[in-house]
Amino acid sequence: MKSPDKILVINSGSSSLKFTLYSIAQGNRRLANGLVERIGTASANMAYRRDDEPKSERIVSAEDHAAALKLLTECLVDPERGVLASLDEVDAIGHRMLHGGEIFKAATAIDPDVMSKLKALVPLGPLHMPANIGGVEACEKIFPGAPNVAVFDTAFHQTMPDHVSHYAIPNEYYEKYGIRKYGFHGTSHHFVMLATAEFLGRKPEDLKLITCHLGNGSSIAAIKNGKVYDTTMGLTPLAGLVMGTRCGNLDPAVVLTLVRLGMSADEIDNLLNKKSGLLGVGGINSGDMRDIVNNAAKGVKSAETALAMWAHRIVLFIGGYSTLIGGADAVVFTGGIGENSFQARECVLNLLASLGCYIDREANNTRRGPCYLSTPESKVAAIVMPTDEELMIAKETFEVVSSR
Ligand code: AMP
Repeated sequence: MKSPDKILVINSGSSSLKFTLYSIAQGNRRLANGLVERIGTASANMAYRRDDEPKSERIVSAEDHAAALKLLTECLVDPERGVLASLDEVDAIGHRMLHGGEIFKAATAIDPDVMSKLKALVPLGPLHMPANIGGVEACEKIFPGAPNVAVFDTAFHQTMPDHVSHYAIPNEYYEKYGIRKYGFHGTSHHFVMLATAEFLGRKPEDLKLITCHLGNGSSIAAIKNGKVYDTTMGLTPLAGLVMGTRCGNLDPAVVLTLVRLGMSADEIDNLLNKKSGLLGVGGINSGDMRDIVNNAAKGVKSAETALAMWAHRIVLFIGGYSTLIGGADAVVFTGGIGENSFQARECVLNLLASLGCYIDREANNTRRGPCYLSTPESKVAAIVMPTDEELMIAKETFEVVSSR
């Protein structure tokens, strides 16, 4: 059998669908990418870009994910702007899948049995899983001959021991309902671990890393000898760090207090997921870190507090994780904020001196990753490492399909 070459990566969200097409044979080259947003409306926004050409955008009508995917695939085979002679050239499709529960510990080829297991996991991800599964079903129709592979946000975290992943509530809630910590952003933490090991010229099995994926959604993973020991997100991506619009960790009784104040589950969900975090605390009607650092620099007190709270929570976890994994070799920054916002990174790095991690201000202010952000005499290195979740999904899909 010929080795798989063209791998399509699909990220199907509740109202959007993104794709990236890779050629593995051309050194993992990205051939094209695109997205449709506001699916389900008559004025959906579609963007398409071939390789590194400028992207083109237009308003389209896409009543569902299958319609959106059809429009995007038409771009792929378009005689002028396309990159494929026929959709038959697509050898496999990798799907970003939010939740693998405890069943899926690695990327998995989707067959009818796997599909029914994915559907059984919908209660663990009621917002994302139906859209993720919808993306698979749409691909099964449009690419009837190509295998579909699920790559799970949770899979890389499946190595956490029970005393780390279980909550201190009666066991029956875990046994009956699967309520425990799962963790998310696993594909990014995995990619960054591998890329950091390569950067350091060492094997992942010989490294202890604390990977900080800091974006609109944020999480940290403590990775000991190639395996996740702990991570900050939990049953859902709401737990852990202060994020763009999510609160992260709270006293659970805050939720009870809100219930007793008369708020419904949906209202509390909206408050904690969409109105909190930097947006809720910063007082400037924005959860975007660029706005927060600009306003904090101008002395806007609420923005200063939001930034300090954001950094405090990150350092709290870095310190704890460092102790638990017996000292880290490196703290790694990635994600939109971790890769780009030197001001936000500086707030974290300034608090890491007691770990023996000393900021190289010049590098932090001026250099882009992969690079060191710490001085050579640091006992714990700070590194910035760009993430690429789509490429990781393509690589994992390639591995699964090649080993069949
Ligand atoms: P992500 O969810 O990973 O796309 O990250 C989004 C966050 O990254 C937002 O809070 C942005 O403010 C931040 N971000 C993206 N680009 C930059 C940049 N060039 N400088 C500072 N922050 C940035």
